Amino acid sequence: MSQLQIQQQDARALAAGYSKSFRRVEIGSIIAFWTLSAIITWKALHLWSSYKWLIMAAFFVGFILADFVSGFVHWMADTWGSADMPVLGKTLVRPFREHHVDQKAMTRHDYIETNGANCLVSVPVAAMCTLIPLGIEGWVGPALFLMVSMGSMIFWVMMTNQFHKWSHLEPSELPAIVRWAQRSHLILPVDHHQRHHTAPFDTYYCITNGWLNYPLARLGFFRFAERVVMATLGLIPRKDDIGLVAALKIAPVVAGADSKSPVSQA
Ligand SMILES: [Zn+2]
Ligand SMILES: [Zn+2]
Repeated sequence: MSQLQIQQQDARALAAGYSKSFRRVEIGSIIAFWTLSAIITWKALHLWSSYKWLIMAAFFVGFILADFVSGFVHWMADTWGSADMPVLGKTLVRPFREHHVDQKAMTRHDYIETNGANCLVSVPVAAMCTLIPLGIEGWVGPALFLMVSMGSMIFWVMMTNQFHKWSHLEPSELPAIVRWAQRSHLILPVDHHQRHHTAPFDTYYCITNGWLNYPLARLGFFRFAERVVMATLGLIPRKDDIGLVAALKIAPVVAGADSKSPVSQA
């Protein structure tokens, strides 16, 4: 892909988009997230003795769901929209644009900037989890499974940016246990993630443990999703991230989309 004319944005301008008011929202989200997670954990531990296998299975399912969510949100933010969009531009799209231009920027972010946004999106799900009734006769197991799998999913979604940040730090900067977890592929491994950072940044989006990257790439899942968006909305994938010329060159072909083809929309 070296012949592609990738056109990225200015790293300093992207970094300057992190506002004080959004940081305050992030701090509130982190406090709300940990409070709600403590309630979910307390409710699950009450039923531990009778349902320990179900709780462990649900916790594991949540770990896999989180990898999918991380990939899907990452794909959406990398592929569509721009950092200038209202609300979502600064909060969601900007950090992803910055990350493709300056991989190391996130390693300089503190705990709040690293994890705040993921806590923000997880808080509504965490709130819903705490409201799942666990006392209805005959439904305790399914309700508990739903609460723990969703609770686990948002916990691992929240941890995702931390795992992602670790994958961009030097090995000497990491504790031995983190390096072991990366090598064992329990959390996002360094080499595995570098496949995503190869231009044009259009594969291996999952960044929790990366387990779903290979199957989703083999299935052509994200190219299929791009074809659906292109055919219905006429948008050009990655236009804002790598520039129009490169984006058009690698955009998936949409069958029978004359009037809505990416070229006619350019
Ligand atoms: Zn990316
Ligand atoms: Zn990365």
